[in-house]
Amino acid sequence: MDSHRGLPLIGMEPSAFFLPRESLDALFDAIRGQGYARVLGPMERNGAITYTAITAASELPRGLRDRQGPGHYRLEPGSGERCFSWANGPQALKPLTFAPRETLWRCALDDSGRLTFLDTDAVPERTAVIGVRACDLAAMRIQEQHFLKPPHPDAHFAARRERLFLVAVHCSHPADTCFCASTGDGPRAETGHDLAMSELDYGFILTAGTDRGQAVLAELRLAPAAPDDRAQADAEIEKAARAQTRGLPSRDLKEALYARLEHPHWDQVGRRCLSCGNCTAVCPTCFCHAEMDEPALAGDSSEHLRQWDSCFTAVHSYMGHFLVREETRLRYRQWLTHKLASWHEQYGRSGCVGCGRCIAWCPVGIDITAEVSALLESGDAQS
Ligand code: SF4
Ligand code: SF4
Repeated sequence: MDSHRGLPLIGMEPSAFFLPRESLDALFDAIRGQGYARVLGPMERNGAITYTAITAASELPRGLRDRQGPGHYRLEPGSGERCFSWANGPQALKPLTFAPRETLWRCALDDSGRLTFLDTDAVPERTAVIGVRACDLAAMRIQEQHFLKPPHPDAHFAARRERLFLVAVHCSHPADTCFCASTGDGPRAETGHDLAMSELDYGFILTAGTDRGQAVLAELRLAPAAPDDRAQADAEIEKAARAQTRGLPSRDLKEALYARLEHPHWDQVGRRCLSCGNCTAVCPTCFCHAEMDEPALAGDSSEHLRQWDSCFTAVHSYMGHFLVREETRLRYRQWLTHKLASWHEQYGRSGCVGCGRCIAWCPVGIDITAEVSALLESGDAQS
């Protein structure tokens, strides 16, 4: 990691400070003052919350609520002044570090006819994101495990991650699709953030997670948070955890799923699934991608591209002149068993952080928690 990346405040009890609601713009200014000229915040766009370039607190989605269910996402007016009383939108942090499509390298013939490799992207802009959820921080940690694994960390991912400043907001308004409490990834933002905030009606409680966050707090010169305000913020996070009605039965389903690879329920879900790949596009942990070369028509240069792919596409399982997973049921089985079973072997944990996006953005409302329950309900694994 280079010097852009903040050092976590290990072993220190974070000090909490109070930012009055009317001073929220001061936080934006302090973050910009630390060199993050590009600030992204949650905004309503095309009927959903997305991280968009933001200049002032007045652009935040004040009073807006989300309603989510299987195959369902709607924003609706709520009451009050709160700006973070929604759970999440279709976009996690993933596109900010793992670009949907990018050039990994270029090559061209020079004047002497020799092949030369050329630089691709310029150094990414230092970017702050306000309103990050605990589940998405957990997903970012998983993506770091994947993309930054030695001895060959992905330089493109690393450059973007090192220049990200993350302001988490502890979740107090989970959607009906959320189940981060059962995966252990929320609703409280525990690690991975530079700053964390709790939103109260009249202001925010701020704590630093890294030395970079500490520098922003020092610039704000805030008063310590009152014990009653801290207690209320904690109570709202605990209530958000209790409000979640969905869940996975265990954080490690590896053996249970491996024992059910021939279960008839895969046929049932395979008949409903459209193989559209929406679930993998919105999932903050999915990292499958395809790589391809695009040569110039003149034949003197070529670009090597990487773009998001999905285990639900036919071509993703194309190998040795045949499709390994021709049927949709096999693609769904691949997705679910990788996410909840073989991920443990790769990364020491499940690949699901309980954000619920795959439930809300599945056009036919397939619900990962319900599918797992259906698979496990049968004690007989293979029939
Ligand atoms: S599998 Fe679904 S609920 Fe789990 S992290 Fe991915 S999108 Fe979120
Ligand atoms: S589970 Fe839903 S979102 Fe995923 S590929 Fe099937 S139909 Fe599409």
